[in-house]
Amino acid sequence: REFEDFFLKRELLMGIFEKGFEKPSPVQEEAIPIILQNRNVLARAKNGTGKTAAYIIPCLEKTDTSKNHIQVLILIPTRELALQTSAIVKEIGKHMEPPLQCMVTTGGTSLKDDIMRLYNTVHMIVATPGRILDLASKKVADLSKCRTIIMDEADKLLSPEFQPVLEQIIGLCDPNHQICLFSATFPVTVKTFCQKFVEQPYSINL
Ligand code: AMP
Repeated sequence: REFEDFFLKRELLMGIFEKGFEKPSPVQEEAIPIILQNRNVLARAKNGTGKTAAYIIPCLEKTDTSKNHIQVLILIPTRELALQTSAIVKEIGKHMEPPLQCMVTTGGTSLKDDIMRLYNTVHMIVATPGRILDLASKKVADLSKCRTIIMDEADKLLSPEFQPVLEQIIGLCDPNHQICLFSATFPVTVKTFCQKFVEQPYSINL
C-alpha cells in the first residue's frame, strides 16, 4: 500500500512526504482506513511501530480547519508525550489551509494561559486527562462537537485513579463519537473500560 491509496488531502500528503515517510508502516496500513471510516479501534501497538502517525494522519484528514471547533481529542498520559505528539501533528499538518490549530493542555502549566488560548480557534487538543476535564467541565473547552477521541498508551492512561476522569471526559464529547485506543498491553483495567465504552471495536494486533 501507498499513502496515496488512502485518498488523503493533497496538503496532508505533502506533510507526510516532507516528514520523510515513504510508505505506511503495517499499523498505519491497517489503522488509517478504519479510523477514516469513523469506527472504534483497539490497537495493540508498541512504540517504534509508527502508531503515532497511524492515528495522527486520519485525525488530520477528518479535521475541517474551516470550522472553528474542537474536532479531535488526543488523550495521553504525560506532558512530555503530549508535547512530542503535538509536534508531530504540527509537522504533518503544516500545509493545511486554513492553518490547523492544535493545542497542548496538561497539568503543571498555567490554567489561565490555557483559558486565554481557548478564546481563539482550536481544532485539535492533545491533553492529559486531569487538565482537559477541568477545562471542559468549566465549559472553557467545548468538547460537544468532538467526534474523534484517541487514547494513546491506554495502559498508562487507564490507571484506577484516571478511569473516572476519562469516563467524564468522554461524556462531555459528542455522543456520536469514535474512540481509538492504542496500548502496548491490555491489562484488566483497559479491558473493562473497553467493554463499557468502546463498542464493537475493530481490533488491530501486530
Ligand atoms: P512511533 O511508533 O509512533 O513512536 O514511531 C516510531 C518512529 O517511526 C518515529 O521516529 C516516526 O517518525 C517513524 N515513522 C512513523 N511512520 C513512518 C513511516 N511510514 N515511514 C518511516 N518512518 C516512520
